[in-house]
Amino acid sequence: MLIRRLLLSLCLLLTLATARANDDAAFGKAFGDDWLAQYWQYNPDYAISVGYYKVAGLLPVPDAAGRKAYLRWLDSQIKRLAGFDVAQLSPAARSDLAMLKTQLESERWSLTTLKSWQWNPSAYNVAEPIAILLSTPYAPEPERLRTVQQRLLKVPAYYAAAKKAVEHPTREYTRIAIEQSAGALDVLGASLEQQVAGSALNAKQRTAFLAALKPARAAVTDYIEWLKALDAKQAADGSARSFRLGDALYEQKFAYDIQSGSTGKALYERALAEKERLHARMAVLADQLWPKYFAEQKPPADRVQKIAQLIAKLSEQHTTREGFVDEVKRQIPLLEAFVREKDLLTQDASRPLQVRETPIYQRGFSIASINAPGPYDPTAKTYYNVSPLDDYTPEQAESFLREYNRWQLQVLNIHEAVPGHYVQLLHANKSPSRIKTLFGNGAMVEGWAVYSEKMMLEAGWGGHEPEMELIHSKWLLRVTTNTLLDYGIHVLNWDEQKVLDLIRNEAFQSETEARGKWRRATLSQVQLTSYFAGYSAIYDYRERLKKELGARFDLKQFHEHFLSYGSAPVAVIESLMKPEDATKP
Ligand code: ZN
Ligand code: ZN
Repeated sequence: MLIRRLLLSLCLLLTLATARANDDAAFGKAFGDDWLAQYWQYNPDYAISVGYYKVAGLLPVPDAAGRKAYLRWLDSQIKRLAGFDVAQLSPAARSDLAMLKTQLESERWSLTTLKSWQWNPSAYNVAEPIAILLSTPYAPEPERLRTVQQRLLKVPAYYAAAKKAVEHPTREYTRIAIEQSAGALDVLGASLEQQVAGSALNAKQRTAFLAALKPARAAVTDYIEWLKALDAKQAADGSARSFRLGDALYEQKFAYDIQSGSTGKALYERALAEKERLHARMAVLADQLWPKYFAEQKPPADRVQKIAQLIAKLSEQHTTREGFVDEVKRQIPLLEAFVREKDLLTQDASRPLQVRETPIYQRGFSIASINAPGPYDPTAKTYYNVSPLDDYTPEQAESFLREYNRWQLQVLNIHEAVPGHYVQLLHANKSPSRIKTLFGNGAMVEGWAVYSEKMMLEAGWGGHEPEMELIHSKWLLRVTTNTLLDYGIHVLNWDEQKVLDLIRNEAFQSETEARGKWRRATLSQVQLTSYFAGYSAIYDYRERLKKELGARFDLKQFHEHFLSYGSAPVAVIESLMKPEDATKP
């Protein structure tokens, strides 16, 4: 007995000693690819979205037992992370650990405190992973169809559990869940039957597939009917949850999502000051431009009115409803050429961007978005989803086209594609740290996209025209008011009229944009602040480095190094980057 105990403690000492000598290696071993394989078992939908297909046949049933098991696992992993002595780790491993800790704690908080699984019925939708499996050629088609079939068999149990989980949802989430579930029926509809008919599956396999498809479709239809009944009941008895998060939950979510070390309240105050700065600059630009566009007319005394009139005049220059998607397609190669010519950062010609109309099941949230392959899937295509204006009335389309006028459409393409989201994600996928790429920080990602707009204009895109600066300032004003209204709605109880007035009168945006923004803010929390939070952090950091390095500062080196850390929070990148990294080697 004594000997065994002695042996055991010796072994323990030995392990401790090795762990200390090589903590980076120990951390990498404990939380490397094997660990991620466990994580994906619990999160197969997320796995598919980042191109990890080994668990693609799994569709966990979102019931109480599943949540309990996942919570137990999260707790044990948070405990394991706490066992590492941070002081012994290299900066790179230390930041991986910090990001992982935030990720797991944030998931824990979501399950136990935020509980959106209860009040957000749109969290339950089987369509997107299936659509990815059907359209991504990661394996031969018959194999992918068999994987989809495995998922389909679980769909009835999945929606049965969803109906048990949903309790006092917000009406906004219920309504979008109804819309998006209709989109799910589209994914499971006639085109899927055609794909099966045209596939290499034999007759018996096809029959088995269709036998799994039918009850899955019925389960989605039943969920839609159930949600409609629930919505009608809540409309009648007023039992719906408010879409406002409230101060306490808002600040907690802000801390997890933004990771700036600051508070939602402090960012709100900074945004108020930025709004004032932008109004002052736009008044100067408006004075410059006035004689060119209104030679016969005296400018109004009120600066906000003067700016508004000029923006309205410039907004008349826009593309057509039918030509909208094609105009986006036309601009991408021009932006790529400019980035190359000015040597702003490296692009990857082997991974071209495909502009397409947004698939129906993804519509309803934003007009344009990037759909990129994850770090596991270096060959999948990157899509630039652009929503066609088909569903708009002529008046809505005109209002939209004025908003995305000649200048603003260019800013949108810079933001979404080159060198915004698309280019940033290509760089992130090359990052040696899967953790930094997979558990990326939304404020860094959106902040980069907004930073890249300003950077392109500084480099001369748009020829330093005051028109471009004025319209871009309007866009920055939008980013700034996004922060104001998100905090205003969720914490300060702003009503719809106050938000619409702010957007239209002080941020110079259209009716369509204002109404869409109100809707989006009732269907998200904190996310709208991530643009301004990340943008101001990146811009401040670059300006500090420029000052410190003087003539030695090199913009391309700064960009390349900055992006090499994957989508880590800006504060983490700052702690890892050395000033010399932003100089020519
Ligand atoms: Zn027009
Ligand atoms: Zn964005």
